[in-house]
Amino acid sequence: METVCKNVDSNVNSQTNYTQAVDILNAGEVVAFPTETVYGLGAVATNDTAVKKIFEAKGRPSDNPLIVHIGTKEEVELYIEHISEVAKKCIDLFWPGPLTLVMPVKPNVLANSVTAGLATVGIRMPDHPVALALLRQLKKPLAAPSANRSGKPSPTEAIHVQDDLGGYIPYILDGGSTGIGLESTVLDVTHEPPVILRPGGITREMLEAKIGPVIQPTKIEQKLEATPKAPGMKYTHYAPNAPVLLIECDLEKVHEAVHQLQKQGHKVALLAPASFEDIEADFYFSIGEVGSKEEMGATLYHALRACDKTAATIILATTTSTEGVGAAIMNRLEKAAGGKWYTP
Ligand code: AMP
Ligand code: MG
Repeated sequence: METVCKNVDSNVNSQTNYTQAVDILNAGEVVAFPTETVYGLGAVATNDTAVKKIFEAKGRPSDNPLIVHIGTKEEVELYIEHISEVAKKCIDLFWPGPLTLVMPVKPNVLANSVTAGLATVGIRMPDHPVALALLRQLKKPLAAPSANRSGKPSPTEAIHVQDDLGGYIPYILDGGSTGIGLESTVLDVTHEPPVILRPGGITREMLEAKIGPVIQPTKIEQKLEATPKAPGMKYTHYAPNAPVLLIECDLEKVHEAVHQLQKQGHKVALLAPASFEDIEADFYFSIGEVGSKEEMGATLYHALRACDKTAATIILATTTSTEGVGAAIMNRLEKAAGGKWYTP
């Protein structure tokens, strides 16, 4: 299959490209598009045949449900059985934005594959001009996971989508780099207090300031039977080809680790803040200025993907605290590394 990639970054002639995307979606095919988090791979969420094509193109396990994207707040009532007071508050305060709300799904409206047989659905309204323009012209909900091959880092640029899914999907809308660079926060509001199933751009601190206590399970709590989970989080995620090792963000320690790994015969790719540039790793990718979690979030997947274009045999990645958006960054890094840290 030929994959067509069309630019909608500027307003020049982009209407034709939106019309094409809408026609392809209405014909039951998939289209990749940018959101404020990462690129999504969309299909009309009420068309089961179309939604199945997402799973095929990504190689995604069928028991991992998809997030439904809508273009207006009002539409949420069409798909949700009961919108709780907390959910209403979240919709009011955080949509459009990187917050997915897990709520009880209305039966027989959305395609079965979207919910993977669950009684709930994750839904959000993205805050990105291209995603919103597409949804509003389509006038239908889009089921859309990240537009990467299952297990790989999510795409933050159209070229990442092309690299992973070129030949498997018909159409990509290129809207430039995504802003946040990490997937949405998934908040299960069917629990009281609500539970963060996946940390993301809307932080625990931001939620608690508006809706009171929310539960963000610790790594140990996540392993307990009784803790609510996102079905997808049990799978490998965000992993580049070479193994990733995590290391504290300390110049001396990183310098020594690079040296030791090279002595063992490794070609080392280093993912670290700009001030670590002078360390003599074989490959170096900046993740922004020290302490800027926003920059780190925005550049992390790009850096992980860049390692796949090198001959690195090992990737050393510096960590951050779990405050604010750091919780989402560390969640992704821990998964990319399979929980492994560098030990001298
Ligand atoms: P992705 O589509 O790759 O951004 O991942 C979406 C995440 O949300 C996955 O971890 C899913 O398992 C999770 N998710 C989607 N729908 C639900 C739901 N109804 N209940 C719990 N988790 C969900
Ligand atoms: Mg994903």
